[in-house]
Amino acid sequence: MDCLFCKIANNEIPSDKVYEDNDILAFRDIKPNAPTHILIIPKAHIASAAEITAENSGVISKIFEAAAKIAKDAGLESGFRVVTNCGESAGQSVMHLHFHLMGGRSFSWPPG
Ligand code: AMP
Ligand code: ZN
Repeated sequence: MDCLFCKIANNEIPSDKVYEDNDILAFRDIKPNAPTHILIIPKAHIASAAEITAENSGVISKIFEAAAKIAKDAGLESGFRVVTNCGESAGQSVMHLHFHLMGGRSFSWPPG
């Protein structure tokens, strides 16, 4: 499958990794929108949040456990945002599920 984040998960394309285990990988966004901008992905291909099921959802809790640890290690005590864009109208550009962990600045709500 020609999937950018599968290739990153398989080390076929390099990334600036901040956390990795058997099931998930976290790496720095190549075009950061915040002082801390990390992407957290399942290593197994899931196209988007719309494809999460009872069979594959175990990895989602691991992603959020990692997010809490990464945020703590990055010193984001004042707050951070975790977001996933799902589908065209939400601006998803890579069709492999990923959660943006962003911090180091303030964020507006609701998002644009
Ligand atoms: P989204 O637009 O929500 O699908 O997010 C995709 C994100 O992937 C964007 O923030 C891009 O900057 C980021 N991105 C694209 N290619 C790479 C790459 N090779 N390494 C790290 N981040 C990337
Ligand atoms: Zn993939």
